[in-house]
Amino acid sequence: MAKQEDVFKKVISHAKEYGFIFPSSEIYDGLSAIYDYGQNGAELKNNIKQYWWKAMVQLNENIVGIDSAIFMHPTIWKASGHVDAFNDPLIDNKDSKKRFRADVLIEDYCAKIEEKENKEIEKAAKRFGDAFDKAEFEATNPKVLEYRAKRAAILTRMAKSLETENLADVKALIEELEIADPDTGSRNWTEVRQFNLMFGTKLGAASENATELYLRPETAQGIFVNYLNVQKTSRHKLPFGIAQIGKAFRNEIVARQFIFRMREFEQMEMQYFVPPGTELEFYEYWKQTRLKWHLALGLGAENYRFHDHEKLAHYANAAADIEFNFPFGFKELEGIHSRTDFDLKAHEKFSGRKLQYFDPERNESYVPYVVETSVGLDRLFLALFSTCLKDEVLEDGSERTVLSLPPALAPVKAAILPLMKKDGLAEYAETIFNDLKYDFNLFYEEKDAIGKRYRRQDAIGTPICITIDHDSLADNTVTIRDRDTMKQERVAVADLRRIIDEKVNFRTLLSKI
Ligand code: ATP
Repeated sequence: MAKQEDVFKKVISHAKEYGFIFPSSEIYDGLSAIYDYGQNGAELKNNIKQYWWKAMVQLNENIVGIDSAIFMHPTIWKASGHVDAFNDPLIDNKDSKKRFRADVLIEDYCAKIEEKENKEIEKAAKRFGDAFDKAEFEATNPKVLEYRAKRAAILTRMAKSLETENLADVKALIEELEIADPDTGSRNWTEVRQFNLMFGTKLGAASENATELYLRPETAQGIFVNYLNVQKTSRHKLPFGIAQIGKAFRNEIVARQFIFRMREFEQMEMQYFVPPGTELEFYEYWKQTRLKWHLALGLGAENYRFHDHEKLAHYANAAADIEFNFPFGFKELEGIHSRTDFDLKAHEKFSGRKLQYFDPERNESYVPYVVETSVGLDRLFLALFSTCLKDEVLEDGSERTVLSLPPALAPVKAAILPLMKKDGLAEYAETIFNDLKYDFNLFYEEKDAIGKRYRRQDAIGTPICITIDHDSLADNTVTIRDRDTMKQERVAVADLRRIIDEKVNFRTLLSKI
């Protein structure tokens, strides 16, 4: 089995074993691509939301947050283009009966070519050592150039076929490239068909006059249709932004890879409304700002890269993804799009209402342009969880599993651990717990050997363990143990609040952006 697969399996089993993520409806054998967050998962998820919300709403005086409903007027999805164009091309394998996204099969084929290309570069880097000039090698090496040209030709042809709805050519491309079902090797494919990703439902009790609705496939439209309400009541001038965190639903054709691609998931989106003509400047600004926000988490700059879109969606004049190095390779974590005035103009047309802004500086009214940042909360969870989960061999040869989350995001901030229950240690520990519980999410435990208790806290990422022993009763001091260094230190009980706060506050994280 490939090493990456092992790592991913460990991530999934650790998430379940330690109360982070459970398969939904597990006692009924689960529901495909739907997951529940357990006691530690819900805390981590809430902390990620806080980090995003504070960075957007609290740090920017011109960004406000809203919470719009999941159900929206059905015409909204006509205006946004989702009814007509929110489709994925699907293809079935006749032998394995498995369903795939045709574009993903082709993209995966290209990713394999890219791997070969990277191997050539790595080989050359080893051969030439310090004298290696990567840029020059990439620009001149015939093999690398050949791989690149091949990839570009395939992706351009696919983009064109998808754009012109030439699904027969997408099938032809799959056949020409001899792409097989990755699990069975079969090349017995059906035609390629379009599949709409929205879930439908009904509003109203009587079936004859019930209204057909959709579960929202993105949170953005709730912001667009409220933009004028928010602008007028907040009295913000352009540029200003509206942020929102909420559920979105997509009937994904292939929903594998754990919480990376789910049918019910959460998005954290911000729409930035700007004067026409300034959108590309703000697009660049938000690209860089969002990358900095990710980098502040400390998961390593080498794990992020931009992917600029060549094929743009019908509403965009520039678009990029921030990709992250997940256990299964680099994949989209966040999208940054310059959405022009497409959505607001469409809503004007379909609703018959004016959505214009009067610009006092330009002395004219216009429909604002929009730059959007959209990050998947669950994908961010997976990025953090999979990168922070580590097996370590300690100096004495023993092993431990540690989840080295950024302390501000850790589900439990400190564990209060009396060495034993008797001799008044438990009572003393409880007074500490009761004093600190108003400021931090704590965990209290008095069972098992202290070493075992430390390991359990390491496994859920608790930054600080506080041990209460007999000396504590005499001199009001306790031992604190640091999750990452495992160093122990004797401190005064009176200093605990300050020490924990210095370690886990959001200020430290936010000031890095
Ligand atoms: P992909 O290409 O991976 O399907 P997308 O380009 O359709 O993603 P967007 O519409 O740009 O995604 O949505 C914004 C963000 O929402 C994505 O960057 C991703 O983090 C998250 N997201 C989208 N679809 C899902 C899903 N099915 N499960 C979990 N997160 C998702």
